[in-house]
Amino acid sequence: MSRPELRISARRFRANLAAVSERIAPSTLMLVIKDDAYGHGLNWAVQSAVAAGVEWFGSYDIGTAVAARRAAPDAQRIFAWATSDDAEVDEALEHDIDLGVGSAGYLRRIVERARARGERARIHLKIDTGLHRNGIPIGDWATAVAEVRAAEQDGVLELAGVWSHLSEASDADDDEAHDVFRDAVARVREVGSSPEELHLTASAASWWRPELRGSLSRIGAFCYGIRSAEGPELENVLPVAELAATVTSVSGEDVLIDIGSFDGLPSTLAGLSVGTPGGQRPLRRIEATTATVGAWPGARAGDDVWLFGAGGHGEHSATALAESIGTVGEEILTRLTARVRRVVVDES
Ligand SMILES: *Cc1c(COP(=O)(O)O)cnc(C)c1O
Repeated sequence: MSRPELRISARRFRANLAAVSERIAPSTLMLVIKDDAYGHGLNWAVQSAVAAGVEWFGSYDIGTAVAARRAAPDAQRIFAWATSDDAEVDEALEHDIDLGVGSAGYLRRIVERARARGERARIHLKIDTGLHRNGIPIGDWATAVAEVRAAEQDGVLELAGVWSHLSEASDADDDEAHDVFRDAVARVREVGSSPEELHLTASAASWWRPELRGSLSRIGAFCYGIRSAEGPELENVLPVAELAATVTSVSGEDVLIDIGSFDGLPSTLAGLSVGTPGGQRPLRRIEATTATVGAWPGARAGDDVWLFGAGGHGEHSATALAESIGTVGEEILTRLTARVRRVVVDES
């Protein structure tokens, strides 16, 4: 039985990394690799990005950060920001992972583990600038900063960065968050710490709001060519991944392809269109393991059909599909199951 393929273009990934890096300079790219590099495959993404000169990686959890370190031992810095237990913190220290810290309790845990191991933990302290999830509240900031400074002087901690995350709900909200962020950084400097890295922005704000960028920009979506839902197209950035299925039979006006909702394809995409060797055709129905597409002249079993991609065969982007069912492009990519074979194309 044939299997649908997620064809991942190494060439477009490298081009996106270059376009994003150029756009955000002098801010440095931190490539975000959570959710298996947004469904593109963690090991491949990290290795390709290291080869392309990317120095910073951002993984949500420590497990992914350690996997990235194993995949690319020469990756310079890997940042993991999920609040984690003692065993995970130990693993992070062992593998030289930078830790994001968004609560006083987690700060104490890291200090304790670093002391127990006789090591110095590198942390990035997170101020809550309005999202109210994983961040030190403004009212507790001075206390946390004092604890960090004391631990630095004890030699068990290095404050490598200060960071936060924007809501991107409106420019005004983000400006307000930026003000809170700057005050927090000022407080850190007052007590004598000198974090090298400041980071606040993800894809959209890094791209469109240069005044908010810090020394680092944490970017996932745009590097994989996933533009914002309802957002404009991006110059020199193209979708990295194409989802291709194979025609299994042709009957009259319909062709049957080997992908369905069990593969993670949202059945609400029925009624939209896909790319085929004959150009754009309607996606009529999505069943459990198959889907039906409008036929084109000369259609036959074995032909490719493109569910989403970079547009070369008339297919939509993942984001365009997402927009018509009220979600985001990331969701379309990360929902695909393991039956969809990941294949890297144009590697050299
Ligand atoms: C996912 C995430 C990012 C990257 O967001 P994109 O919009 O994909 O660039 C950055 N920072 C944090 C904290 C995140 O969770």
